[in-house]
Amino acid sequence: MKRSFPVVLACVLALCLSFSACTFQFTTTRPPTVTLDSLPAYAESPYVAINDNIPQFDPDDYTTASFETYSRLDALGRCGVAYACIGADLMPTEPRGSIGQVKPSGWQTAKYDFVDGRYLYNRCHLIGYQLSGENANERNLITGTRYLNVQGMLPFENMVADYVKETGHHVLYRVTPVFEGAELVARGVVMEGYSVEDEGEGVCFAVFCYNVQPGVSIDYATGKSALAESDEESHAYILNTNSKKFHDPSCPLTKDIKNANKQTYNGSRENLIRQGYAPCKSCRP
Ligand SMILES: [Zn+2]
Repeated sequence: MKRSFPVVLACVLALCLSFSACTFQFTTTRPPTVTLDSLPAYAESPYVAINDNIPQFDPDDYTTASFETYSRLDALGRCGVAYACIGADLMPTEPRGSIGQVKPSGWQTAKYDFVDGRYLYNRCHLIGYQLSGENANERNLITGTRYLNVQGMLPFENMVADYVKETGHHVLYRVTPVFEGAELVARGVVMEGYSVEDEGEGVCFAVFCYNVQPGVSIDYATGKSALAESDEESHAYILNTNSKKFHDPSCPLTKDIKNANKQTYNGSRENLIRQGYAPCKSCRP
């Protein structure tokens, strides 16, 4: 009994896992319903995988003909799902034009010195310009933080763009802004991608990107913002200014840092992360 129980449990678990993997995959044309309750609160990573990183496209949508669709703005002027099959023929051949005339829901102009480019908010393309060439389309632009735009969404856009350019294949691609209640600024976006011709071999992801800016607190109802109240504690750290890692002063790995790249720092770890530093995986400061 003592020995068989774990085995039975393991089998049941394996069955459940294989079953759920099948049922979760591609059961609906609708984008996944993501509630904030079901997501971990933002903590350092600009995005998290959802649904085991499996996009939820309907196999009927597996097409090698490019398309792009954008939702009508809702009664509050908010964007909805943007859905596309990205192919090389959809990609822009001209540099992006001006989009400053579009005022997405919750738009505010706010500047913070520590934000890359100073402006807190960007007009954030749901389907990136490099993918579909959509310029000042109000159905494709949300109020998004610089952090969402660059740290959250851009890596996935680049991945899809590179893949399509290299292979000439197509990527089903869907971006769904997630609003809480009647708030005007999205809490984040769900991004899904799936390469059609090679059945997800090249591109396959489902992630939620947080619409946050470290160091800033955002009122999502209105878009107003303020410097985050500091509950940050100061500590001593050793920085590697080259690898952009920070260590506890006692970490043995600090001995290997070249003097030219070594720096002592006194301050908060949050501030280091804002500056692009990452904690050492060994000493976990
Ligand atoms: Zn370390």
